[in-house]
Amino acid sequence: MTSRAPDDPRQEAAELVAAARRWLDREAAAGLGDLIATSTLRAKEESADPEPSAPVPSAHVPSAHVPSVPVPPVREPQGLRTAVADNPFDELDPGGVAERAEIERDSGAFLEAIATEVRACTLCGLCETRTQAVPGVGSARSGIVFVGEAPGADEDRRGEPFVGRAGELLTRIIKAMDDAKLIPGVPLTRETVFICNVLKCRPPENRNPLPHEIESCAPYLRRQLQALRPRLICCLGKFAAELLVGVKGTIGGLRGKVYRYQGAKLLVTYHPAACLRNPAYKRPVWEDMQLLAREYLSD
Ligand code: URA
Repeated sequence: MTSRAPDDPRQEAAELVAAARRWLDREAAAGLGDLIATSTLRAKEESADPEPSAPVPSAHVPSAHVPSVPVPPVREPQGLRTAVADNPFDELDPGGVAERAEIERDSGAFLEAIATEVRACTLCGLCETRTQAVPGVGSARSGIVFVGEAPGADEDRRGEPFVGRAGELLTRIIKAMDDAKLIPGVPLTRETVFICNVLKCRPPENRNPLPHEIESCAPYLRRQLQALRPRLICCLGKFAAELLVGVKGTIGGLRGKVYRYQGAKLLVTYHPAACLRNPAYKRPVWEDMQLLAREYLSD
């Protein structure tokens, strides 16, 4: 029998985890992964342990390699809040120019630190296929955050969300809101709103995000929202809506209502890519932007 030098145990663990992830991805593609990852999620929700404020590093990357970054001040309780009735934050985050300027100042370093962490992230298998991660763009200035699904090919290449065809439409929608002065005194541009996604890395062939990818990536979004303290969150499409509203449903069923997420009101609308496929969605999207403005302006 030939004797082999013992392998590096950390390397071995990383290979095992990578193999498990490949298996999970294959099973998910076959329809089983959803079940597995959903039950993992459910088990986690049912456990009494408080949610970590940062993604828990898996054996995929040794924990010592995960940079430790500052976390925005915690406004208890943390975690996802859904309907108005559930909302423990009575106070809506402010929309006044001076208050927003202060939040923008305070949030910059946190957003940068989160972005640095996202760019180095290896928590799920998407790190192996991405060109680069796409943390988000914009600022806390207006207090409006748009949350999409995941970067596509253009975003993966440029490192910025919503820069492809769907992104051009989103940029036009934001400009139309500004031109129509839907929120008087609050300039709306890609710089004054914040634009990001549920997943920070592109899924291969633009497939749908898998549950375990959402579970790994969602803490980055939660921490971005904690830093941004938005007054209004707009979910673009099903994946953002289901994550942040906390229920499954169609966009047709979820839109037109006002939800709460911590100190923000939250609305749901069709994804710009859905509007490109079906231009009939553009009218309801514009109605949703008008609702967004009314809700922004009222307490
Ligand atoms: N679709 C998304 O959901 N996000 C992007 O960044 C681009 C397209």
